[in-house]
Order: sequence, then C-alpha cells, then structure tokens
Amino acid sequence: MNPKSLLSVLAFALLSCLGLAQDAPSLFPSEPKELAPGVWFQQVNGSSNCGWVVFDDYVLVIDANFSWVAPKLEERIKKTTSKPIKYVFDTHCHGDHAEANSWWISRGAQVVCQEECRAELAKTGAQKWQEMLGKKPEFKDVEFKLPTVIFPDRKVFEDAHHRVELLTFGWAHTKGDGFAWLPKEKIIFTGDACVNGPFNYMGDASTEGWIGVLNDVEKLPFATLCPGHGPLGDRGTLVEQRAFFLDLRQAVGGLIKEGKSFAEIEKKVELPRYEKWAGKKPSSSQIMRVHEELTGKVK
Ligand SMILES: [Zn+2]
Repeated sequence: MNPKSLLSVLAFALLSCLGLAQDAPSLFPSEPKELAPGVWFQQVNGSSNCGWVVFDDYVLVIDANFSWVAPKLEERIKKTTSKPIKYVFDTHCHGDHAEANSWWISRGAQVVCQEECRAELAKTGAQKWQEMLGKKPEFKDVEFKLPTVIFPDRKVFEDAHHRVELLTFGWAHTKGDGFAWLPKEKIIFTGDACVNGPFNYMGDASTEGWIGVLNDVEKLPFATLCPGHGPLGDRGTLVEQRAFFLDLRQAVGGLIKEGKSFAEIEKKVELPRYEKWAGKKPSSSQIMRVHEELTGKVK
C-alpha cells in the first residue's frame, strides 16, 4: 500500500504543522492484542500491521515495517516479552512491510522472506534505503542488508508450544507474497494479499493470480485473519477481498467487450459490494491494472 501509506504520512505531517494532528489517525489505533498465548497482533495506521509470536527461546516478528515505525514496534513487543527478537518475516517487498529489514538486522535479528521477495529487494532495496536516509538521517549508521533466510515455498518454525508455517501460493499482491500460518491457533497473517478496507495497491499485482491464491488460502482452516492493513478479520474478510477482484474483473471485462474506452470504463465501473465493505469506490489505478491485465498488457 505504498502510495497510500506515503499519502497518510504526508497528510499527518501537514496536519502536525497546522496543529491539527489530533484529528489524524494515530499510528497505533489500539493496544497490541494477544490472539492466543504468545501470539500478538498490532494494527498500524500509515504503515503495515504487525504480528509477533513468542516461542520458548525467541520471538518471530511478522512484517518489518517502515524504519521509522520499527523502533516503536520493538518497544511494544518488549512490553509483552523479554525473549530476544531473532527472526523478522517480510510478507512481501513493499517498503511499509520490508524497509526496516536492515534496522532489525542491526538489532541482532535475521530477516526471512520468500525468494521472489528477496530478488525484488536485491533489485531496488539499496537505492530505496539511500532515499530513506535522505529523509531520516537517524538511520545513517545502519548498513543496508538483504534478508538471509530465504525459502522457495515453505519454511517452518516450531517448538513445544508453537508452530508457524511460512507459505507461498504464487503471484497475488506481488510475485513474492508470503503467509504466516499458525495451524494450532488457526490464525493466518496474510500481508497485503488480504486487507480489511480500501487498501488494495495493485501496481505489482496479478488479479487473476490473486483470486487463485485466495482460493488456496481459503482451504486452510483458519478462523482469525490478520490482514496487512485494516482491523483484524476472519474468514469473511477473505471472501470480501476475493469478491472485490471477481467483481472488478467482471465489470471491467464486460465493458471491454462492449468496446468501451478506458475513460468510459473508469467512469462506469461501480461496485456497490466493495463500496459497502471498503467504504470507497475502486480507484482509477485499480481499474487500470485490471484493464491492462484483461487487454494483455500485464503478463
Ligand atoms: Zn504491499
């Protein structure tokens, strides 16, 4: 959700200047929630949601977040446990989920991600880190580093009390989307492959693949869904998320068949179900991405 995250950060900065920041959403809209013994979820505004699992000897964090958020998250995590943070899992490569990798590594953690996610970070991460340092010089002593624990389709963390399976199902929100599945507690952390509200950034997506991935995730017997953005969800969150892509593809595809131009399609697409769920109309960029896919411009 990079562009939106950036916008909300900029909006907050502007409001702060005007002395109106109390009206902006706070970074943490609530206290961290313990979903099951040792399994935590923290909703975050303007960056990605975060989770952590307290194993017998260490903590596994789910989503590194933006650099400026990570130290605040670490503070919250340390209020819940004295165990060392040994692993940080990126659900995907976007900055609001993975930018702080190097900072976590400087704090002694190892960063874990799916191999396509690492490949993307290897392409663009160093430059983005430099750009971030221009705005956040307090991180200047932190050297850029890539994730070191890489998995192609599955990696398991387990001890006597917890089991976390890191899984991937293919191209959805990005080419390297990973999920953290906790079979004992029936909890899944989805990253941005499932969000709860109007947060679907689709610039790196395959909506066709996304529907297939959500179908696969649905086969897992989860009861609680921790989305990449928005409040805590459940099985219904996945159903609404998938309905958005199905409805959007159907609406755009139907208008393409009628020979409508993109400008006409953009004007005509209405998705009442999505508007009810997410509180917004689909954006031009979302309609455009589906249009590009259905006219063969995204492969
Ligand atoms: Zn994302």
